[in-house]
Amino acid sequence: MTRTGRASVQDMAEILALEDAHTSGAYAKRPAAMVRGEGAILWDADGNRYIDGMSGVGVANVGHNHPVLKAAMKEQLDRLLVCGEAYYNDQRAQFLRDLTARTPEDLNRVFLCNSGAEAVEGAIKVARRFTGRIEVVGHKRGYHGRTMGALSLTWNPKFRESFHPLVPGFTHVPLNDIEALEGSVTERTAAVVLEIIQGEGGIWPAEAEYLQAARRLCDDRGALLVVDEVQTGMGRTGRWFACEHFNLLPDILCLGKGLGGGMPVGAVVWRDALGTLSPGSHGSTFGGNPLACAAGRAVLQILAEEGLPERASRLGERAIQELREMDVPEIREVRGRGLMIGVDLRHRAGPVIRALMNKGILGTTGNTTVIRLLPPLVIAEEDLAHIVRGLEEVLWERRGAHVG
Ligand SMILES: *Cc1c(COP(=O)(O)O)cnc(C)c1O
Repeated sequence: MTRTGRASVQDMAEILALEDAHTSGAYAKRPAAMVRGEGAILWDADGNRYIDGMSGVGVANVGHNHPVLKAAMKEQLDRLLVCGEAYYNDQRAQFLRDLTARTPEDLNRVFLCNSGAEAVEGAIKVARRFTGRIEVVGHKRGYHGRTMGALSLTWNPKFRESFHPLVPGFTHVPLNDIEALEGSVTERTAAVVLEIIQGEGGIWPAEAEYLQAARRLCDDRGALLVVDEVQTGMGRTGRWFACEHFNLLPDILCLGKGLGGGMPVGAVVWRDALGTLSPGSHGSTFGGNPLACAAGRAVLQILAEEGLPERASRLGERAIQELREMDVPEIREVRGRGLMIGVDLRHRAGPVIRALMNKGILGTTGNTTVIRLLPPLVIAEEDLAHIVRGLEEVLWERRGAHVG
């Protein structure tokens, strides 16, 4: 950690104490209060500098404090903040136009909401509504959020344990097991839901043949294919949407995380051919609000103008190669695409994340043994190289500690 000597607005210990006194307890917090950001750099209240290798878990794809995003939001703040979908709005109209210009062909119908879980809830409702069927097939290691419907689709028992009964009609098959999928998709299946690369589950990529099989099975049996790109979307994997790597056309796409660049924005996007929802069948007070839409538009503009999907592809390819060539026995496997990278260790990843933080590098975990790296797509090449070197150092230092 390097000190910048900037005066802090508030004392770090005071911030931590205040949050600890009132927090829900739902989060395992790390002991630093972040107060400022710029690109892929964050500063805490003591002025310590960090390289952000997690982007608020895949949110800050365009980086922190981006001038174009900021300007768009400030301009909208001076005009209108409250306008639900009972009325039309100029920002919303243009956000919908710009978003559907980027989503795969035919995916032109959008329900705007405020989070990834809400996008998944919406997708479940849209699928049940348009098929008249109930059952939903999800995936082992899949993660889709923690509201009751999304939680029913999320696989890891640690998230589900205390909350049964969950929503009926959900099953989970292993990703890339075509036979299991064939046995699970029936005339009663409303939807198959998958992540192109499972994020929270530990960066597990779907294989091309599996995706093709899922598309074919859905077509044959009248189910809808829902692709949850809440984490893989918005340029993260090197394309605007990860399904584009495979020319896979989903029926329904779930978006969130990077979509609003930090503003809470989620979206369910589906094929025109499916039709539209009837008034009252779904809704959200804040969905499609003008400030969120202005932010979403700015994010789309920045991703395009700065060529960030291509940048993610170029930088990610090199980082993944370097990590794979790294001669560290603790690394079991390196997986991922673009700037969505998982380093699977032979031991728990949590202590490594803490050691990285002490070196001024922020990362997160995916499942228990995976270091998950999701840096902003604008990250400087030397900062990304610093993350890779820092990880190597920490793994060697910890190895020494274990051996000694
Ligand atoms: C994070 C995530 C979600 C849930 O998004 P929230 O905004 O936290 O509700 C859903 N699906 C995937 C693939 C995610 O990574």
